[in-house]
Amino acid sequence: MTSCRVCRSPIAVASYEASAPALTSMMSFIDVPTRVFVCGECGHAQCDDLPDIESFYDTTYRISLNSQDHDQIFAVSPDGTPIYRTDHQAAIGLRLLDIAPGASILDYGAGKADTLRKMCLARPDVKPHVFDVSRDYAASWSGWVKSEDQASYTVPDTWTGRFQAIISHFVIEHVADPVGFLKALHRLMAPGGRLLLSMPDASANPGDMTVADHLNHFSRTSLERALATSGFQLQTIDSDAFPGAFFIVATRSEQAVTVVENSGAVADAVRTAKEICTFWERATVRLDGAAKQFAGKRAAVYGSGFYGSWICSRIEADVDFRIFLDQNPKLQGSVHLSRPVLAPSNLDDDLDVVFIGLNPLKARAAIAAQPALNRPGLDIVWIDG
Ligand SMILES: [Zn+2]
Repeated sequence: MTSCRVCRSPIAVASYEASAPALTSMMSFIDVPTRVFVCGECGHAQCDDLPDIESFYDTTYRISLNSQDHDQIFAVSPDGTPIYRTDHQAAIGLRLLDIAPGASILDYGAGKADTLRKMCLARPDVKPHVFDVSRDYAASWSGWVKSEDQASYTVPDTWTGRFQAIISHFVIEHVADPVGFLKALHRLMAPGGRLLLSMPDASANPGDMTVADHLNHFSRTSLERALATSGFQLQTIDSDAFPGAFFIVATRSEQAVTVVENSGAVADAVRTAKEICTFWERATVRLDGAAKQFAGKRAAVYGSGFYGSWICSRIEADVDFRIFLDQNPKLQGSVHLSRPVLAPSNLDDDLDVVFIGLNPLKARAAIAAQPALNRPGLDIVWIDG
């Protein structure tokens, strides 16, 4: 028995359970089981709390800190040019937020705050502020955010009611109390201030459902409920701007916000979340079977992200797993889980099998575009059968 992080309704049983280890968004393994619960009242899906969550984000979770140049690629354009996540987020923020001249803007859970920095290059009139639950990023803030406009661990009282705009990219999925998180943002905002949030959309990227440090998997219905409970009026929900994610804009309301009950939409969200749980159950059985079928065979895994790392954990005891293939040029030449990461065109002729570690909703189209993977005699294993 647990209770919904959004609406507090009891949730009796888990819809998905897997034994330890669990895989984090940093592609590291932690020694906890994975359990996913789906709320029948609001359509929220959630995982168990992480042990020692504060220490995890303070000292373990270091997104994009490896080098100044490393930035997650969210897409590759048709001519092969990578498109970086923070460039794209900055453009979406400028477009959706409609920031007033001279506005104070806060990046909450900023990390290196590359998104805000890029927004300020386009809008030098705005006053940037940054907050994170770690000091690791302070060096990235110096030089363009005033020291009094930087905060780590706790937000100063003087920031209450200050901000005309707050951005928080890919943070809310990590927090144990998303309603408390949104209420904190509401307090920091000036009346009428606008909030831009991004978060994964598990319905568009089912891998998100089992990421150990993603405690929340929002549906449209649970997101609207969480915002309303926190005093925000949802204005825009955009699931197209960023593949596999929701981008939303909400306005601080001074009155109570009510949500129109929509039991059909909640039922759809519940069904979708449970289908994803079923997908993972089947994928686990399928991969375990493929690991036995290809025992001793020379193998590559296509994709060195979440799906590929998960496949590694299922097959490496049985299969002669040699390399990762990844079309991200920033990852090519690196080593991941003790294997080299190579461009797909570097596929050796002597490999027997390639396991496809990509979002199953997009995997077949991506592989069809890779001639090296479509040669006769090469077995391909898909995680969705
Ligand atoms: Zn709920």
